[in-house]
Amino acid sequence: MGHVLDHRQIADEMGIFFIDAEVGAGLPIWLPNGVVIRDQLEAFMRELERRRGYQRVVSPHLAKRSLYEKSGHLQFYQDDMYPSMRADGEEFFLRPMNCPHHHKIFASRPRSYRELPLRLAEYGQVYRHERSGALRGLSRVRGLCQNDAHIYVDPDQALHEIANVLDLHEECYRRLELDEFSYRLSLSESENGDPLWRVGEDLLRKALRDRGLSYVEAVGEAAFYGPKIDVQMRLADGREESIASLQLDLFSADRFDLEFISSGGEKRRPWIIHRAPLGSHERFVAILLEVSAGRLPGWLAPVQLAVIPMSEAERSLAEALAAELHQKGVRVQVDRSLGSLGKRLRELHKLRPVARVVLGRKERESLRVGLEFRDFAVECGVDEIFVKLQKSLRPPLDLGG
Ligand SMILES: [Zn+2]
Repeated sequence: MGHVLDHRQIADEMGIFFIDAEVGAGLPIWLPNGVVIRDQLEAFMRELERRRGYQRVVSPHLAKRSLYEKSGHLQFYQDDMYPSMRADGEEFFLRPMNCPHHHKIFASRPRSYRELPLRLAEYGQVYRHERSGALRGLSRVRGLCQNDAHIYVDPDQALHEIANVLDLHEECYRRLELDEFSYRLSLSESENGDPLWRVGEDLLRKALRDRGLSYVEAVGEAAFYGPKIDVQMRLADGREESIASLQLDLFSADRFDLEFISSGGEKRRPWIIHRAPLGSHERFVAILLEVSAGRLPGWLAPVQLAVIPMSEAERSLAEALAAELHQKGVRVQVDRSLGSLGKRLRELHKLRPVARVVLGRKERESLRVGLEFRDFAVECGVDEIFVKLQKSLRPPLDLGG
């Protein structure tokens, strides 16, 4: 195993995020290059989920005390929440999870079995007051955005839908070319005698076995509202980190009095699947930067083409080329810095562009250039650059513009 760069160093060099003491520890501020990555990941995940029948919702970042009393967060999770704030004589908390808001959407009108599974998805911002000693770049933060969804199912559909969700996780990681992952079944403490917990745990175990997936079991790692399957990703330095988890919740429907009318006309409680294949933007981008050493695939790379004019004489050609490619959707950056060519190339290298082109007198006169990718180079006319770039910039599925 060679030397592995920390994502914080890579992110600094690429202009991904920063943390400002006056804003607060663990509260990353995303810079334009970081937002390119977030936006692309969101577009990718939205499209995968759209194909599988998810519907998108948006809900506020805070809620009143009574919501978190009902959900159990104040009983089981308060140490991880920011202290409350008061307004209008009420007490509000920043949300540590999106679930309670989504349960309210389910409860906002009567539901029929015909609507189930109901899949509500949100890129939801949440806040968790992690210990200051645990904070680390983007991997441990206090403000994060989750690729979240809650799926409300008839208990009879639960096994089938868990299989669908496992399939979504696999498709997601396969398309992102992340192969080094494994599963962990996280169970409650053994002394927990609630038979409903056993039902949930057996169902998740069966879903893993039915798909022939190998997994390890971890007692005491469950969420407070149910057992879960964690996806463990192996990082470049050999560490293993939970990247996502799929949770089966047999209890929240009771707490929130959620019900639907079954095909037989009776009221029934749904079960709820919580899932977030990309976990949070923050941790996922940290992982992507570390496994790729910042050499992101073209569709995610903040800078796809760097254009370097050698002198003032090539500047107008560089700007015209960049403007044309920008109009075609390529993320192109013209180097406008001063200094020796070697120094300028070293600085540009830190941005990890997919390709670069140096324009000198010869290129200006012949309008032919050397288009240098990370691992190979081609010679072409300036008017062929767009076509030559295409293959390297293609996303892993059609994101619909
Ligand atoms: Zn949830």
